[in-house]
Amino acid sequence: MTVQALANHTPMMQQYLKIKAKHPDELLFYRMGDFYELFFDDAKRASQLMDISLTKRGTSNGEPIPMAGVPYHSVEGYLAKLVQLGEPVAICEQIGDPATSKGPVERQVVRIVTPGTVSDEALLTERVDNLVAAVFNKGDKFGFATLDITSGRFLLSEPATEEEMQAELQRTRPAELLYPEDFGFLELLDAIKGKRRRPIWEFDLDTARQQLTQQFGTRDLIGFGVEDSALGLAAAGCLIQYVKDTQRTALPHIRSLVKESKEMSVILDAATRRNLELTQNLAGGTENTLASVLDQTATPMGSRLLKRWLHQPVRDLERLNSRLDAITALKDTGLYTELETALRPIGDMERILARLALRSARPRDMARLRTALQQLPEIESLLGEMEDQALAPLKQSCQPMPELCDLLERAIIEAPPVVIRDGGVIAPDYNAELDEWRELADGATRYLDELEERERDRHDIDTLKVGFNQVHGFYIQVSRGQSHLVPPHYVRRQTLKNAERYIIPELKEHEDKVLNSKSKALALEKKLWDELFDLILPQLETLQRAAEALSSLDVLANLAERAETLNYCRPILKETRGIEITAGRHPVVEQVLNEPFIANPTTLNPERRMQIITGPNMGGKSTYMRQTALITLLAHIGAYVPAEAVTLGPVDRIFTRIGASDDLASGRSTFMVEMTETANILHNATENSLVLMDEIGRGTSTYDGLSLAWASAEWLAEKLQSMTLFATHYFELTELAGQIKGLVNVHLDAIEHGDGIAFMHAVQEGAASKSYGLAVAGLAGVPKTVISRAKSKLRQLEASGHEVVTGEHVQQSAQTQLSLIPEPSEAETELSRLNPDELTPRQALDALYRLKALI
Ligand code: ADP
Repeated sequence: MTVQALANHTPMMQQYLKIKAKHPDELLFYRMGDFYELFFDDAKRASQLMDISLTKRGTSNGEPIPMAGVPYHSVEGYLAKLVQLGEPVAICEQIGDPATSKGPVERQVVRIVTPGTVSDEALLTERVDNLVAAVFNKGDKFGFATLDITSGRFLLSEPATEEEMQAELQRTRPAELLYPEDFGFLELLDAIKGKRRRPIWEFDLDTARQQLTQQFGTRDLIGFGVEDSALGLAAAGCLIQYVKDTQRTALPHIRSLVKESKEMSVILDAATRRNLELTQNLAGGTENTLASVLDQTATPMGSRLLKRWLHQPVRDLERLNSRLDAITALKDTGLYTELETALRPIGDMERILARLALRSARPRDMARLRTALQQLPEIESLLGEMEDQALAPLKQSCQPMPELCDLLERAIIEAPPVVIRDGGVIAPDYNAELDEWRELADGATRYLDELEERERDRHDIDTLKVGFNQVHGFYIQVSRGQSHLVPPHYVRRQTLKNAERYIIPELKEHEDKVLNSKSKALALEKKLWDELFDLILPQLETLQRAAEALSSLDVLANLAERAETLNYCRPILKETRGIEITAGRHPVVEQVLNEPFIANPTTLNPERRMQIITGPNMGGKSTYMRQTALITLLAHIGAYVPAEAVTLGPVDRIFTRIGASDDLASGRSTFMVEMTETANILHNATENSLVLMDEIGRGTSTYDGLSLAWASAEWLAEKLQSMTLFATHYFELTELAGQIKGLVNVHLDAIEHGDGIAFMHAVQEGAASKSYGLAVAGLAGVPKTVISRAKSKLRQLEASGHEVVTGEHVQQSAQTQLSLIPEPSEAETELSRLNPDELTPRQALDALYRLKALI
């Protein structure tokens, strides 16, 4: 807007427009008295987004101004809605004093509320992490940084491929994501709600270093081990600037940056995370997920930590064993019950501490922090009973903090109000001056009684009384008869029929005090409140460490409880390759089933690398494969697992290619999705990877599909040597067992009786003998006449020499199977051309060299 155009507006509108110009991307909540008002386009948008009415306010520049507003006392509900929608809001407060202002009161944007940077309790989901993240790319390499402002956890990583980047986004699910305006992979961000395009210079490496060292108060970043992560730092730099800009206050709880490297964790790609339904089911909900079965944690921070563990299984055996030791100790002593009871009142200490650091804590946060601190001695004594070394570091971190606890007990009343605004938060006896002001404000009479007695004795006037009235304030009253006795410093205030009323400087002082005392009490209370932050903040780091340890304890005690209740076993982790599961179960399916779950074994090792799994639809193939993956994953978060016994060697990745759904949003067909996922596996799986392949090749024609499945199985078994479970409806694949060492058949059975079919759900060695497609179709309600027509067609096909490979596909002649015998290799062709009888010894030697070179 030009200066001229600006001049056409009222002074207040000019102020508004100037502030708005600095916040073009946010909805500007402009404080006017008891309302936050929005104007112009903001008002139009807000009225739609928040469903509030759009009105007009006078005119400015000759036009009526669209306006919408929300009352300040209910602003949180509106903010919550906007945050949900991914909309950032700039909160502009009156900071000047309206009484002394000439023209509009001075106003300033005091903070910006954005989905990824909120810390207010009302705007956050309790048991879910809320992250703001930034991405950056150079060519096809990425930098990624995430920050949880409610804990100060600040992490960076450098995904090396698009798949890894996608997996990171899937894992962290940021509420808000910053990306440079020239970001090369926009389609990766499609599913993200709170996207913010940032100018390229915000990702400048030097600025990043400067911003970060300034934040951490360090000279360089070497101590954090991130010095060489140029891409990650670029993202982290943009992130920290953004967060500082939105919070507009110090962020003392963010004091380090940790690099996450993939070597430390069992990698799960985006598809696998989705397929295994760790914290979210395929429909996007949270029911029937692994977390829903495992999460009975006592605190929201524990719940969030458990979910982070589930999403980031680790490979470090020492760490895993120490978690397992801790769970064993808690389980065997039965202490988990008492521990969970002791932890429950602690609540969300982590987020309370963040609000403390940001100085936005509410009185109830302080009260809850006090409750948390009050629990520490009990937790210490419970842990004192535990001999186990594994708990020692945690014990160390959550030592009682008696002074701080005492401070909060003295400072804050038992049940404080929601906000400090009207006072009544600081407890009596905490501060003598405050007590005095309050006593005065309450019209306390003790002082007056004392004064009365003193004056009466001193001047020997037995009718002397101290009183108060609205018009004249405090007075000393003496009967007419004794008025000659009053000393000269008594100043007459009022004459009554039978008495005189006086004032003295001391009482006048008292009067002023009383009249001021309410506002004085309130002001002092606010000052004391602010000082409380100064008293607590030096301990912030210790407190944060305690919160972290308490979260871990919560998760460990929870896992001990789950292990006991759900009858899980402790997995044995070893260095040699292989997965050996005795009587494994699917943790979620076993919970939702009404009938007993049939436990099944899994054995995968270098000699038995791949199981080809056949059996009817509904037989339990997917359940079986997923349970193997989930048991492997659970063992790698250091938890007990649903099985009788489990021994696991190293696992670097878990891959799943399960079920296909059209990814219509990105315009990819089922088959395309399936093949993209398969390609990812065939490129990246190693001999230590656990690979689940379910029904690949379904989305295309039979021969294409079978050939692809066949070739993929061969590649996995022979070349990659990954530990693979390969479920298929192509019976032809069962022939591979005879051709490739280390590949075996297993199957799931069903029994037909009459028209019905019973699934056994038990995994057995060998290939399935029969497909039950027609029976399953009948079960699914396909009309009887269609089924019986299918049966006669089946008999006809069988009689004419066709083989039926599945219930759904009638296919496959003997000829096509022959075509699946691998083409001869070059070396083989060459060899078949040679005739040893016609070769000289010299030629034979040459041929041998040529052949060797061909391999
Ligand atoms: P498939 O992949 O072979 O079509 P699923 O694994 O989807 O079969 O299993 C179908 C249903 O069978 C499951 O939803 C579950 O109700 C039941 N089921 C699977 N495995 C078992 C088991 N081991 N014990 C009991 N019921 C099972």
